[in-house]
Amino acid sequence: MKILPIPQKSENVSGSFAINGNAKMFCDSEFIAQAEMLADLVYESCGFFLQFTDVITEAQIIFSKDAALPAEGYVIMINRGIATVTSSDKAGAFYAVQSLRQIFNLDVKQRRIACADGYVEDSPRFAYRGFMLDIARHFFGLDVLKTLVDVMSQVKLNVLHLHLTDDQGFRLQIDKYPLLTEIASRRFGSEVNRNGETYVDDVPHEGYLTKQDVRELVAYASARNVDIVPEIDLPGHFVAAIAAYPDLSCTGSVSEVRKKWSASKDILCAGNDKSYRFVNDVLDEICELFPSRYVHLGGEEVAKDRWCNCKLCRERMADLRIDSLEELQTHMIEMFRVHLEEKGKTVIIRNDGVTKNTDKRVVSQLWTATKHRRASYETVSGRPLIVSPRKKVNFNHDYNVATMKGVLGLKPFRGIRKADRDNVLGIEGAIWTQRVENEEQLFFNILPRLDALAECAWSKRRKDFYIRLQKRLAYYDKAGLCYNGKFVRNAVGNRSDKARQGDTL
Ligand SMILES: [Zn+2]
Repeated sequence: MKILPIPQKSENVSGSFAINGNAKMFCDSEFIAQAEMLADLVYESCGFFLQFTDVITEAQIIFSKDAALPAEGYVIMINRGIATVTSSDKAGAFYAVQSLRQIFNLDVKQRRIACADGYVEDSPRFAYRGFMLDIARHFFGLDVLKTLVDVMSQVKLNVLHLHLTDDQGFRLQIDKYPLLTEIASRRFGSEVNRNGETYVDDVPHEGYLTKQDVRELVAYASARNVDIVPEIDLPGHFVAAIAAYPDLSCTGSVSEVRKKWSASKDILCAGNDKSYRFVNDVLDEICELFPSRYVHLGGEEVAKDRWCNCKLCRERMADLRIDSLEELQTHMIEMFRVHLEEKGKTVIIRNDGVTKNTDKRVVSQLWTATKHRRASYETVSGRPLIVSPRKKVNFNHDYNVATMKGVLGLKPFRGIRKADRDNVLGIEGAIWTQRVENEEQLFFNILPRLDALAECAWSKRRKDFYIRLQKRLAYYDKAGLCYNGKFVRNAVGNRSDKARQGDTL
């Protein structure tokens, strides 16, 4: 049973299974949508429909429920001409379908599906299995996001974190502040590197998600067990919004969406009441749109020069009796955390924005180097953690830097005290898009590193990864997706027609 990510347990047994257009499915009413997905896949690949039946003894494929199985887990038993899928929830049934599509081999000539008899028992290592896409530096719209949800969900990743805002663009429609789309979603040039020379060009770049786009994306992702986590990055990386509403800055003098990639020194003023009203209003509209329990507030790489020289920021610090600019940032996050908590939301921020006074309910995303992580350990200990070591899992890096080997060998608990290991919610990879300008570059960078990430997030086991990866690459070929295929060729020799014969749903 060659499945990626690798299941907790799987074995082949003697015997084989085959179905054709006469096959029928029996389904627990809870899992109709997942069974229909399987029927659609079979129809697209083989041209026949699997019919539903109410009589279990007539069925060759059975979806049933067992509340005792773990969340998102499933069992597949293929034996004596019957494939039985058991799960405790919709996510488990969906993941069973994703495994079946890798197990079932197409026999297009005979218009049937065949596989060896076998048994799979599977459930995730981590509940949070994420990937972040930066759509602020370069915008990617609904179609690309749906494709990303497809490839993520096929390998059982379940969180798409959208970096919606940065110095270089604000990419979400907010009804109360129309200038965020009129001004903040457009920039009139970008830093480029051509022929060894770095300069700012004058090619405009624009785009944003409408509320309708988000509703459509959330529904599409939800059907595939993917949670969309929105991020409004603050108080740094905020220049696009400030360009639209200059009162939000300490100086009031920022006039354009940033073209250079480095982080700006202009940040959200922490002393002005307008800042808090603005962000809370934006968060209110975000909470209406995104059902996720998480809202990411960024918090990284905040140069505090402007706060240091701002009368309002200084007065705020005096009122609060705090003496460090870091604690001023912590105060700001706390104001938004309290606002979001009233709406049932949990805040995530990156670890360099966490201080010892940050509320313990705030999730810390560990993304800076291990050395730094150790140094800041006192501040992140005792709180929920998401592991994202950027040197390993930032897929904007070249494949020679963030290597396949590095992703596969990721040790999620490295540098984390034993007592804190239960606090690790999971793993998240990322792609920052300063140098990723189009869909081809995007998927070339992501695939197949995403498959390696999924393997780490789903399972502790590692075996024959590159052999199992061949079927994924065959799927990417079929779907017309750009990917970097040289790792499989290096690992198992040139991908031959053998892989093609193993084409799956
Ligand atoms: Zn200020």
